[in-house]
Amino acid sequence: MITEKLDAVVIGAGPVGLACALEIQRQGLTVAVVDKGALVNSLVGYPTQMEFFSTPELLEIGGHPFPMASYKPHREDALDYYQRVATAERLDLRLYERVTGLRGQAGDFVVETTKGELAARAVVVATGFFDVPNRLNIPGEDLPNVNHYFKEPYAHAGQDVVVVGAKNSSAKAALSLTRAGARVTLVVRGPEVAEAVKYWIRPDLLNRIKEGRITAYFNTTIDAFTPTTVEVNTPDGPRSIKADYVYALTGYRPDYKLLVDMLALPLDETDDARPPIFDVTTHETARPGVYVAGTVCGGLATSRWFIENGRHHAQLIAAALVTKKQPQLA
Ligand SMILES: Cc1cc2nc3c(=O)[nH]c(=O)nc-3n(C[C@H](O)[C@H](O)[C@H](O)COP(=O)(O)OP(=O)(O)OC[C@H]3O[C@@H](n4cnc5c(N)ncnc54)[C@H](O)[C@@H]3O)c2cc1C
Repeated sequence: MITEKLDAVVIGAGPVGLACALEIQRQGLTVAVVDKGALVNSLVGYPTQMEFFSTPELLEIGGHPFPMASYKPHREDALDYYQRVATAERLDLRLYERVTGLRGQAGDFVVETTKGELAARAVVVATGFFDVPNRLNIPGEDLPNVNHYFKEPYAHAGQDVVVVGAKNSSAKAALSLTRAGARVTLVVRGPEVAEAVKYWIRPDLLNRIKEGRITAYFNTTIDAFTPTTVEVNTPDGPRSIKADYVYALTGYRPDYKLLVDMLALPLDETDDARPPIFDVTTHETARPGVYVAGTVCGGLATSRWFIENGRHHAQLIAAALVTKKQPQLA
């Protein structure tokens, strides 16, 4: 059943989607936020007690203060903060409702979801990047002991755990698993722990490797996962690494099925990252009436836009929507 036409539907109740909705609402426009999962679903999926690299004021949206006694917020602080903001702003949230398609054109869209249809003049896509892991496409990747998401370390005390990758997520997972009593082996395709790993995490990891608490294989590729091992090729030849559990933390990518097949957003194929084509002053895409915000704007370059800088897309989009609506109000 189609509801009364909204000025905008925001797809994605992440930090940036929420920022967009509240700025649009502050312009006197009607807006609903649709998310396939929970409120700030990506953050719900982050590791428990994960510490953000940003200080709290850089994660604030809508000018709502994020007061904290400590220097950096943890996942739970941020979950609490965004929930409080959404409640204070009385946002119209449609949670656990997945967007599956978009018909119509600017001024007259129908957003198709798993629970029905929503009519809207404009659509804002703020769907992030955390739902589709970068797969290694090797045998055994779908075994139950291989996971692309690290949640918490304590289930692995006394186990042999292989962590694949050498960026922030892998580094943090390897350290917390080690401290929770797991025997950790790090498997890295490149020659070293990435230089981009945060300056307070990298030395910690390098020292744990140096003292032998974490075993690390560099310049190493993986042939297969089995229920009990990871089969690798090291510079010294093939090896079978004992593994009760594997965290393949090789990054994530936006959902291109959603962007291209369901929302019909043209991509910039001249950019290796294949971002949606959009006007940087308004964030309107090459499909008129559809806007992009947050991490999804970078395509495969998932670190181009994050909460700190992506939250500012909200004001640009809200201003563009209100400007477009002016003639109808006159
Ligand atoms: C471990 C980790 C730590 C991080 N730390 C920081 C940090 O300290 N500072 C910082 O600025 N950034 C940080 N980031 C990056 C930051 O979290 C993301 O950039 C941020 O979540 C982007 O916000 P977003 O609103 O664009 O997307 P997201 O938060 O990913 O939200 C997208 C939402 O869209 C929903 N969605 C997707 N598809 C559909 C669909 N078909 N229908 C309906 N809903 C859909 C998802 O369920 C999700 O809730 C971190 C990322 C990770 C992984």
